[in-house]
Amino acid sequence: MTALVTGASRGIGRAIAVAFAERGHDVAVNYASGADSARETVKLCEARGVRAVAFACDVSRYAACQEMVGKAEEALGGVDILVNNAGITRDGLLMRMSEERFDEVYSVNLKSVYNLSRLVVAGMMKKRWGRVISLSSVAGLYGNAGQVNYSAMKAAVIGFTKSLAKEVGSRGITVNAIAPGFIETDMTAALPEKAREEALARIALGRFGQAEEVAKTAAFLASDDAAYITGHTIEVSGGISL
Ligand code: NAP
Repeated sequence: MTALVTGASRGIGRAIAVAFAERGHDVAVNYASGADSARETVKLCEARGVRAVAFACDVSRYAACQEMVGKAEEALGGVDILVNNAGITRDGLLMRMSEERFDEVYSVNLKSVYNLSRLVVAGMMKKRWGRVISLSSVAGLYGNAGQVNYSAMKAAVIGFTKSLAKEVGSRGITVNAIAPGFIETDMTAALPEKAREEALARIALGRFGQAEEVAKTAAFLASDDAAYITGHTIEVSGGISL
């Protein structure tokens, strides 16, 4: 099987790419600007005996995604597993949030999910097998002050997931989402110490999550062990919402 993982140059995306490589999948490693980091992900995948190729592409742009999917198909065959992982935050209270900050988060976190799903699902339908896995967030499930843009898009990813699951289920394609809590990556490293302490106090397991723990859930959803799970959102949060 071949997987396309967006935002795989760092963090959760890289961990997913490596977890897939460990399970024998070839990997198309997408990134926006981190060419060196993407090359490192490719090396980590290749070291596990699979083919991996890095593709620079701003996933918020449909035409660019179309070009990337074409190149990935040429280099690695079709895309059997799509992971919509690329995401950004542009936090701030609504009263101070510019239109630009809202639109940016919409484009990268939600429009991208449309772009890539639209481009790869036809191939999966022909093969009568496919997996679409999208990264949501606990912010999309429960809300988070200072993140109306981010929470809105992450909630929308869940609606998108449920609807697409109903559209393509009869063709052997499952569509699921993962809602991580607080995972230690560059995204959360940027948070102020006070916000980190407050988050930690709410986590039942008493620690932050690791990217590899989210990656294992993605690998499970991509596997045949999860063949009867679709339209679902799995929370990987250490019990932050309990
Ligand atoms: P991260 O460490 O900030 O990495 C973000 C990745 O997305 C990078 O590979 C980056 O590429 C890529 N990216 C950003 N904008 C892009 C664009 N326009 N086109 C293509 N790639 C783009 O993030 P992360 O923490 O691993 O998060 C991964 C996903 O999990 C996101 O969807 C995030 O919202 C979600 N999530 C994370 C957490 C958490 O606690 N970390 C919690 C809940 C949900 P470059 O390296 O080229 O910039």
